[in-house]
Parts: sequence; C-alpha cells; structure tokens
Amino acid sequence: MYGKIKDHLQSELKAIDEAGIYKRERVITTPQGASVSVNTGEDVVIMCANNYLGLSSNEDVIQAAKDTLDSHGFGMSSVRFICGTQDIHKELEAKIAKFYGTEDTILYAAAFDANGGVFEPLFGAEDAIISDELNHASIIDGVRLCKAQRYRYKHSDMSDLEEQLKKAQDQRFRIIVTDGVFSMDGDIAKMDEICALADKYDALVMSDECHSAGFIGKTGRGVPEHCGVNGKVDIITGTLGKALGGAMGGYTTGKKEIIDMLRQKSRPYLFSNSLAPSIVGASNKVFDILSSTTELRDTLEENTTYFKDQIVAAGFDIKPGNSPIVPIMLYDAALSQKFADMLLQEGVYAIGFFYPVVAKGQARIRTQISAAHSKADLDKAAAAFIKVGKALSVID
Ligand SMILES: *Cc1c(COP(=O)(O)O)cnc(C)c1O
Repeated sequence: MYGKIKDHLQSELKAIDEAGIYKRERVITTPQGASVSVNTGEDVVIMCANNYLGLSSNEDVIQAAKDTLDSHGFGMSSVRFICGTQDIHKELEAKIAKFYGTEDTILYAAAFDANGGVFEPLFGAEDAIISDELNHASIIDGVRLCKAQRYRYKHSDMSDLEEQLKKAQDQRFRIIVTDGVFSMDGDIAKMDEICALADKYDALVMSDECHSAGFIGKTGRGVPEHCGVNGKVDIITGTLGKALGGAMGGYTTGKKEIIDMLRQKSRPYLFSNSLAPSIVGASNKVFDILSSTTELRDTLEENTTYFKDQIVAAGFDIKPGNSPIVPIMLYDAALSQKFADMLLQEGVYAIGFFYPVVAKGQARIRTQISAAHSKADLDKAAAAFIKVGKALSVID
C-alpha cells in the first residue's frame, strides 16, 4: 500500500530540494544563548533566535524550573479541566493578567493553540473577522476554524481596513485582528489608528504579541503600550516560547467573560494537555523579573541601536523599524543562502529568508538582537556581515 504514496512523496521532496527550498536543520549542542556551539564544532554568535531578553538560559529561570520539578512534579497527565490545574497554573494566569492590566488569562500549550482556539468559541457565521494580510499562520488557521465572515486588509493599510470595516457593518460583531510586531519585517502594527477605527466602526481589537511581549513599549507591555492604547485592545495572545523564557506555552489575556468562554469551549484548551509544571514555575519567575525591572528590555534597545548603526554605516540596506528584528536586505534568494553559509564560516549563525516566507524579490537575512548579546558579540556579528558583504559585492 505504501509504495504509491512513497513514490509521490519522494518526487515532491525532490522537487522541494531542486527548488532550493528544502529546509535543513543545523544542530546546536549547547543551551540557547548569545553564542552556541554547533555539531560541526564551531562556536557561533546566534543572530536569529527569538531569545530577545536572553531569558532562555537565565540562571534564575532555570533554577525556578528545577525547583518546580521538585515541588510540583514533571507532568500533569491531564487537560486543565480534569486534573491538570495546579496552584502554579492559576498563579501564572493571574501574573500575566496583572502584567497586562487585563481581567483574566488562559494558558495554552503554545501560542499556535491560543490563536487556533480563540475565534471559534466567540464568533459565528453572523460575525466578521477583519485580518491583516500578513498575520501569522496560526491566526489564519484559527480564522479558518471559525464560521465568521472573513475580511482581509492590505498590510497595515488603514484606509483599506476602514473599507473592510464598512463592508462588515451589517454583521453582528466585528473583530480586527493583527500581529503586534510582524516578524519578517520587524514593523509594528499601527495599534492607535486600529483602535480609533475600532471605536468608530464598533469592533473589537485583538493583537498577537508573540514578537513584542516583554520588550516593546517603555515597560515591555508590548505594542498597545508602545502605541499609547494600553487597555484598549480587547484580546491579547502571546507566547512563552520566545522572549519570555523560550520553552513553550501560550496565553490569551483580556476581558473576563471572553476568557471564561474560552475555558468552556476553546478546543486546544479542552482537548490538549496542561502545560508542564517546570515551564509554569519558570514562567512565574519570568513575569516576576519583568514586573520588577525594565533592565533587560533597556539593554535590548541599546544593543539593537548599537548593531543597526554599524550595519547601516557599512552601507547595508535594512528594513526600517522600531523592534529588535533587523532584516538585512539582499533581494536575491540564492545570494541570501550563500551569505548565510559564509556568515557561519565567520562564526555567525543567521538564516536567509526568501519566497515564499517573504515576498518574491525580498530575500534577506533576518537578524534578531538579544539582551544577552555583549558588545563584543555584536561587533563580531557586524564585522562578519561587512566581510561577507564585501566578498559578495553587496557593499563596497
Ligand atoms: C511564534 C508565533 C506564534 C506561535 O507561537 P508558539 O508558542 O511557538 O506556538 C504565533 N504568532 C506569532 C505572531 C508568532 O510569531
């Protein structure tokens, strides 16, 4: 039986490889950090982790995970509503709500699940979901799982958003959904304008804060803080798998009734396992750290400027933006792959992105800065970019 599909899969895989888009994974043999070792033996500076605050290998976070293994065990072997809720799960939900100034929070195994499970319990065929065209795959999938009418607006285009809102006026409820920070370009959603349009056209607002929670905004509360609309975004989803320790887990935070309904009906919550206690314990520590000091996000901001300045001065073309995502534009897919390979030889780990991950002709190396980077790490990375850039005639 397998023979037929085996042949089919083999030829599809071959086609993917021949198109130059077969994904090969590099293997790291150390904890995630500013620099790591790879299995070829090199020590390399990591320029493409979502470890924005350097918390992935933070000593206090690791210790909290170990302590929680001792106090609360390894796994829950249950979904939350049967016997998967411990005191620490409730503690974390309360801490996240306090951090954002929201009413309640619900945890998920991943932000993919938070986004996958947020629409269907709240919206039906008589409602409208109005979504930025560049929203994350998990939002797109979540919308697909829901019967609401779908409207898409051009990326961050407020007049198109307004058009879509007008078209959706006959629906019962409307919600505007956007990534807070768009991960490929590092640009920030115009949340103030979005909230104003939501007021004008009677819509809710949801922001996916996966690439902003903990470091965007003066105190790291994310894009609503950055745009001066704290408290105006009705639903916030986020991940524990990026800046906030980087293990795994997701959350939805917002109004009490919304969260309550998700606990009753959200399928990835009802039918998937409870977050492991060690992750929950470590995440409680993460929110303690972020609630007591802005030191890490301040360092991140300083590091981002330090690296960006060197790259721009060297003559590279970058996507402008206000986030620690610094896309260095090469425009050519093959060049981006070659560039990344040569960077690795210079001790710098970064990845080239090209179509279909980004638009055609928009190939780039996306760098992501971390608070864990030292100035020496960033100097090494910038020097490698300049050396490879000259060798490949990207800069003079
Ligand atoms: C990474 C990411 C997710 C998924 O987060 P996980 O917790 O890894 O599932 C969802 N939305 C956005 C915008 C992301 O960048």
